[in-house]
Amino acid sequence: MASAFSHAVASLAVGRVTPVARDWRFWLIGAIGAAIPDMDALGYWAGVPYDSMWGHRGITHSFFFAGLYSIAALLLFYRSDKYDLKIKIILFLSFFVSVSSHALLDACTTGGLGVDLFAPFHDERYFLPWRVIRVSPISISRFFTYRGLEVLASEFVWIWIPTIIVFVLSAIWDKVRKDSPASS
Ligand SMILES: [Zn+2]
Repeated sequence: MASAFSHAVASLAVGRVTPVARDWRFWLIGAIGAAIPDMDALGYWAGVPYDSMWGHRGITHSFFFAGLYSIAALLLFYRSDKYDLKIKIILFLSFFVSVSSHALLDACTTGGLGVDLFAPFHDERYFLPWRVIRVSPISISRFFTYRGLEVLASEFVWIWIPTIIVFVLSAIWDKVRKDSPASS
């Protein structure tokens, strides 16, 4: 795992480039969705084997879970909105990418087992070729150590800075579009 807070930060970058009106629901669903796959740590502490599909980095880190979460979020929090289908599809994709970003970032970490991206259909653990993010300890007490600081520094470089860059670039893009003469 990268730390929950950094996963939530990554979702802000996804939210920022989503071309819909963004309210508090939108940001919260994305941030919680990006952090929630690590709820499987509860199973880890309860003795579920790490390498099982129900273990850490198992099914909650799959694209299947990301899809389920995104559909559930739309049904629960956007049901009464009169958005057309196009907006709902954009919202779905945004939440899906936010939740999936968790698994993909975990697949870039330096430790642990790989990520069960295609569970429950294909039970295999994956890493991406770029394993640059220091893995965060599952134990919270160990997080507040020198190693925890190293993890935070690494997450700052690989997650926070890219998110800040996305915010700056998209703000510039918005301004350029607003300032350009309307082409009717
Ligand atoms: Zn994780």
